[in-house]
Parts: sequence; structure tokens; C-alpha cells
Amino acid sequence: MNKEISCIELVQGKIDLLKQNTHNTVNSLLEEIALGLAKKVDLKIANGEEIGLLEGIPFGIKDVYMLQGTYTTASSDLLKNYKSSYTATAIQKLLDAGAIPLVKENCDSFGHGSSSENTIFGAVKNAVNSDLVGGGSSGGSAVNVAKDYTVFSIGGDTGGSIRQPAGYNKVYGLKPTYGRISRYGLMAYASSTDCVGPITKSIEDIRIVLNIMSGKDVKDQTTYNSDVISEDLHSATKTVGYFKNFIESEAISSEIKEEFLATIEKIKAKGIAVKELDFFNSDILVSTYYTLAMAETASNLSRLDGTNYGARIEGKNLKDTYSITRSEKFSEETKRRIVGGNQVLSQGFSDEIYLKAQDLRNQISARFSEDFNEVDIILSPVTPANPPKIGESLNDPLAMYLSDAYTVGFSLGELPTLTIPKGTNTGLQITADKKKDAEVLQFANFLNDIL
Ligand code: GLN
Repeated sequence: MNKEISCIELVQGKIDLLKQNTHNTVNSLLEEIALGLAKKVDLKIANGEEIGLLEGIPFGIKDVYMLQGTYTTASSDLLKNYKSSYTATAIQKLLDAGAIPLVKENCDSFGHGSSSENTIFGAVKNAVNSDLVGGGSSGGSAVNVAKDYTVFSIGGDTGGSIRQPAGYNKVYGLKPTYGRISRYGLMAYASSTDCVGPITKSIEDIRIVLNIMSGKDVKDQTTYNSDVISEDLHSATKTVGYFKNFIESEAISSEIKEEFLATIEKIKAKGIAVKELDFFNSDILVSTYYTLAMAETASNLSRLDGTNYGARIEGKNLKDTYSITRSEKFSEETKRRIVGGNQVLSQGFSDEIYLKAQDLRNQISARFSEDFNEVDIILSPVTPANPPKIGESLNDPLAMYLSDAYTVGFSLGELPTLTIPKGTNTGLQITADKKKDAEVLQFANFLNDIL
């Protein structure tokens, strides 16, 4: 049934859903901004003006992006009352295209987590089964898309935070090639792997939103100019590879393993060549990632000392003020990472730990380059297991870090990787070589047809 509704009605409808929702996805609603913009779109339509592809489309923003005048809390106590003084480049591009921001979305504080339980706004509940976690760290964003509270959401992915919650909530989520989208105005977690990306209900929506946000930005020197990805995304037979040791690892659940191998058989049945590849074991990937991510976040968060941003608790002297503010206002998980990060960067340890992790990262990238001489696409499960129950993983940080086993390697490699909600119960990751985001979407369309 086709029904015409005004932009105001569309936006109001979504805002009502967000208000009533019991999944803890909302940190703050942008009702006034959204309705103001919707009114303008309706006026444009009434005047017969041309309407762009994203014009009037309501979207959500993980609460780590600056949007001038709105709260940007990173789901933290420290920044609970912090308001952005400027707007992130990626978000500005969406606004310029006419998209309408509805909500700042719940997530793990500063992106630290894999479940969206490390937040002052209450654990995000899974869209499919609300006893389970929403996944993280962009859990609120994935759940909002899955529940149709937003048409798309912008997540952030440092080591899997778009792909994993997308898989847990059965939607699409892309971590583009590092540098394809500007990070300016994204609160930094680990700057060398932080990526901006869309979470959506279709590959076509990923393509549209990706095209709008991509491009060189003088405010982020790691960005590059990329070609627009065209609509014609079918064609080209690929050679596919997968990491045998990921699938033979002890950590993978038998269900995910069977589903993944059955998917590989379906692909082979279509005449596609599939190669088994050897790769670093996931414990090496996880420890390399966490060593670097903790070092970078310790350094990035050192600016949050109660002076320039957010909460401040006065102590006897300045040093005391720093330490009380940071001790009281950062979460346990964030403090664990700051302490770990400062440790690996400290004199006497950095050569042994930090530089070793850098060296491993180079080896991992080199191995990816070799693999992409042999295959066009690498397939992998998104997670080794199904989403845990809420509360279950909080007491075991190490187990939580291991749930990132399949996502962090592609982050270290700066590669484009897409989660599609098919192939295993928590989805499938499709990865191509650097800057080949279009090939990822192309292969995703093929898989969508056959799975
Ligand atoms: N779960 C990973 C971590 O906690 C990834 C998080 C992310 O991508 N922001 O570091």
C-alpha cells in the first residue's frame, strides 16, 4: 500500500516511537531541530522545489558525534552535560543533503565495549530479544535501525562497533576503508582505527549514505578522495577466501561454525572459487588491537581532566582536582583502559609492548596485502557466538574482549568491511582490499540474492 505522508508526520511518528521505546536507545532527542527541518522540507515540496535523495529522511547519531548545540555525552558521566560547539564533517554532509537528525544514541562510553552496557543511560536491549545485549559499542544505533525508529543511523567503528551490533540486531553496518570518511567531530577513541559508518536496513541505503559522507576533508589529514559508488552493483565474479583458523578456533560456537560453513558451500555451489587462507590467530589480533587501542585512548582522553570539558570536582590542588574528577567520572571500563594504555606507553614498557604491537600491526597489514593477491573478498563470521544476556559479560572483561576476535583484524588493516544480516545467526562480514568499498557492496548484493 502506498500512502503519502508529510515530512512532519514522518518525523513526529519516529520521535513518538523513540520516546516510547523501552530498549534504552536514546541519550537525547533532537525534537525541536528535527521538526524545524521537517517543516522546511514540507515547504520545499509544497513549492514544487527539487528534493534530494536524503531530503527529509530521519536518522540517528551515535552519541560521540558533534552536532552544534546538542548534548554529546559519549554516554559518560564526565560529559553528561557537555554540548557540542561545532558539527562533525560527516554529520554536516548529511544535513547539507537534507537528512533530519532525530536522536543522539546510546552506546558504550567513549566506544569502550562490545555490549552497550558500559553507559550511564542503561544497558541497550537487543532488538530481536530484549533479554540480550544490543551489542556495542554502537548498540543504540543498531537497535534504532532494527526497530525502524530511525531510517538509518551513523555509528562509529574502532574495532567492530558498527559491524558487531549490526550483526546482533540483524541489520547492515559498514566500516568503510580508514580515511574514506572524515573523523573530524567524532570523539576520538583510537584515532588510527576510528571509522565513521552507516547502519541501515539495506545495501542500497548503505551506498547512498556512504556516498554522501565520503571525501577529502582538510580537517582530517587521513582522508582521501574516493569515487562515487554507482547504483549498478551486480556483476564481476570474485574469488573468495576465508580464514580457516577463525573457523577451527575453540572459541567459535558450533552453531556459528556450521552456519558459516553451510554458507561457504552455497557460494561454491554458484561456481565461485573459495580458498582457505591461514591468518594470525584471533588472540594475537585481539591483543594487538587492545594494546594499541588502549594506548591511543589513554592519550586521547587525557584532555578530559575537568578543565576544558565536562564535569569537574575540586580537590585540594590542581593535581588532586584532575585525579578526583577522572576517578569519579570515568566508568570502570574506561579507567581500566586508561591505566592499561598508560602502562604500555610508559618508559621501560613501551619498547616491549607498544612498539611490538605496532610491529605486529604492520605484519598483519602485510599479510592482508598478500591475501588480496590471491582473493578478491574475505568472508568471516562477525562474532564467534550469539549475543550474551544483559549483565552476563560485565564481570568478565577478557571474555568481552575475545568477542571482538573476528572484527578487530580488519580494523588494524584499515579495510572496508560490511556486516550483512545473513549467513550466520550474527551475520557475515564481507571484506575487500583498501579503498575497494564498492567491491564489498557488489559482493554483498550477490550474497543477498543467494542466501
Ligand atoms: N569492542 C571493541 C572495543 O571495545 C570495539 C569498540 C569500537 O569499535 N568502538 O574496543
